[in-house]
Amino acid sequence: MSVFSCAAFDGHEQVIFGHDPETGLKAIVALHSTVLGPGVGGCRMWAYPDEAAAVTDVLRLARGMTYKNAMAGLDFGGAKAVILGDARRDKTPAMMRAFGRFVESLAGRYITAEDVGIGTDDMAHVRRETGHVLGLAETSGDPSPFTALGVFLGIRAALAHARGSDELTGVTVAVQGLGHVGADLARRLHESGARLVVADIHRDATDRVAAATGARVVDPAVIHAEPVDVYAPCALGAVLNDRTIPEIKAGIVAGAANNQLAEPRHARMLADRGVLYAPDYVINAGGVINIAVEHGPAGYDVARATALVRGIGDTMSRIFAEAARTGRTTAEVADAMAEARIRAAAAKKKAA
Ligand code: NAD
Repeated sequence: MSVFSCAAFDGHEQVIFGHDPETGLKAIVALHSTVLGPGVGGCRMWAYPDEAAAVTDVLRLARGMTYKNAMAGLDFGGAKAVILGDARRDKTPAMMRAFGRFVESLAGRYITAEDVGIGTDDMAHVRRETGHVLGLAETSGDPSPFTALGVFLGIRAALAHARGSDELTGVTVAVQGLGHVGADLARRLHESGARLVVADIHRDATDRVAAATGARVVDPAVIHAEPVDVYAPCALGAVLNDRTIPEIKAGIVAGAANNQLAEPRHARMLADRGVLYAPDYVINAGGVINIAVEHGPAGYDVARATALVRGIGDTMSRIFAEAARTGRTTAEVADAMAEARIRAAAAKKKAA
């Protein structure tokens, strides 16, 4: 396969392949940009169908982290790691330590954390080999409640922009996916007076949330088409596509899932239908903001992390206002803001 010339390569600084025959580790670290600081992004373990799929995934994810970290105001660049394999079958403590040595060999240009297939237990093994790791159980812990808080504030900012009030009483929100983030978001929305419609592929998840919040449970296949005020995708990516967008009745789409737009053009499709879209990497940055606090010289502090996550609401408001003023989509505005911050930092570095 080609790497330099594939579409996802898109300006990457470095792509490093790590192999440890003894433990079976096959890992790839993609460093998209270190202009704002060391590349920070989680490590995902996934049974990719082939190596090309792993390369494409890590490149796309690393680029996304550059934009997410820039918009979150963090002094971090964008990077990501993938380990090729089935997390349930292939992962061992020795493999995670080998991954830690791989991260250590990059001398701090890449800082790792958890992602799909990798938990805090695994990071404890990684930590034995390198200090370039964030999101440890004993410090910032589970990022999901911070992600949920950011999404909650982003929904309020969207309501304020679209309706002139961020009041949730009488507002109906459809939450798709009731995992770590979705369940906590549902709790917050319920406590603030919102009515809920929910869906998950697991019955125990919907039962729990329905019992706690009085939510109406619907089929996961149709939740996007519910007649609600806000649709909050908190499960899979690519849920905003040619099939779903014509069926969406909500005036606002604002949720935690990564890569919600199947293709960039779907942001225009939403805007043309009068749907206000909260760019995913801005609204779901609460988790990375939380782990970033662990990196500072003062160490982790929950109050400081919470205060920083609260800034997501203001950022969302600025994006909505700029999109309304210029006629650009909210996704275009967010990308332009992130790129402007990176360009300014690059120019400053060059001048120094
Ligand atoms: P999770 O795995 O805990 O929860 C996902 C939930 O979605 C599960 O309950 C699962 O059963 C459900 N689900 C799967 N397919 C579904 C479908 N077709 N319809 C309805 N429900 C379905 O994951 P999470 O940590 O809650 O993350 C949710 C989303 O937010 C993911 O896209 C993730 O990448 C993104 N995200 C999470 C964080 C975080 O801090 N956890 C941060 C940024 C982005």
